[in-house]
Amino acid sequence: MPEGHTVHRLARDLAELSGGPVAARSPQGRFAEGAAAVDGAVLRGADAVGKHLLLDLLPAGVVHVHLGMRGIFLRGDDPGRDPMPQTRLRLASDRVAWDLVAPSTCELLDEAGVAILTDRLGPDPLRLDADVGRVLSSWAADGRPIGTVLLDQAVVAGVGNVFRAEALHAVGIHPTRPARNLDEEQRHRLWEVLRTMMATAVEDGRIVTVDGPDRLSVPEAEARRVYKQEHCRDCGAPVVVSQVGGRTAYHCPVEQPDDGGA
Ligand SMILES: [Zn+2]
Repeated sequence: MPEGHTVHRLARDLAELSGGPVAARSPQGRFAEGAAAVDGAVLRGADAVGKHLLLDLLPAGVVHVHLGMRGIFLRGDDPGRDPMPQTRLRLASDRVAWDLVAPSTCELLDEAGVAILTDRLGPDPLRLDADVGRVLSSWAADGRPIGTVLLDQAVVAGVGNVFRAEALHAVGIHPTRPARNLDEEQRHRLWEVLRTMMATAVEDGRIVTVDGPDRLSVPEAEARRVYKQEHCRDCGAPVVVSQVGGRTAYHCPVEQPDDGGA
């Protein structure tokens, strides 16, 4: 499932459609009305909040996209080439085409709709305007496992299962430890780790948490320290797999000991 870094990267890349009118259509048909409204509009800005992509298309409104589990936005150099029939939305300039396939959400919003959406999202570590104080005090008051809290988009927006596993490992915190039992230093460190880990992933275009001279050529299956690993890449201990907050969690029993919630 795409995490926040994918959507921020997309927002950055889709900005290449700005500067002139954008041709829009929905070959698959489920966004036919929205595409018709957007056709000929000008992209004023492409923005990401957590895992939500917001394309501000003047004068039509804002196209809100959530990729969900399987969604993908594909770039093609030849706007004259036909999109795949399952393309929900094609946006094209005279130089490039972007095809959105299998998103969980693709809808046209007005300003009020955007406000409703963003109001229910917590601060996003990838945004400069993120309210860190709000996150830290939310964590300090939350009795749920930190592994559950990290996936709650209303607390922090953009963190998915890979960042959850890798960030908790980086700070040495067991995923079921209640958020409010982290001390102040651990809360600060967790936020900083999320910020830098996610920002690095935007630049890299993928999540690589292992070090090495040629880290970007590391195969996908070996790119993380605990997520979907048999053994922790730091200390070699067998990674523990469990269910936390409805998703599969991975942690190192040595570096992330279960301290009974202390
Ligand atoms: Zn370890």
